[in-house]
Amino acid sequence: MINRPPFSGEYPRCVKCGNVGAHTRYAEVPVGGECLTRACRRCDYEWEEATVQQKLPAHVGGNAEDCPACSGSNPAYPFICPAT
Ligand SMILES: [Zn+2]
Ligand SMILES: [Zn+2]
Repeated sequence: MINRPPFSGEYPRCVKCGNVGAHTRYAEVPVGGECLTRACRRCDYEWEEATVQQKLPAHVGGNAEDCPACSGSNPAYPFICPAT
């Protein structure tokens, strides 16, 4: 597993020429599964960054039917979220 730096947003600073702003391209790679390839808009220097992680819903407690993390998990009766 390769630890890539987190996605640096729309306007990262190129470490080679100091330009601010880079293109972003999604890529599937053999090592680490996937990454975002950034390319400097001025000098075309490329580097890899991690994809943005999808945040999983957290348990909110109480009635499982109202909990986004319990949704679809079909908890046992009486349908109480484990975070309660
Ligand atoms: Zn550059
Ligand atoms: Zn829950």
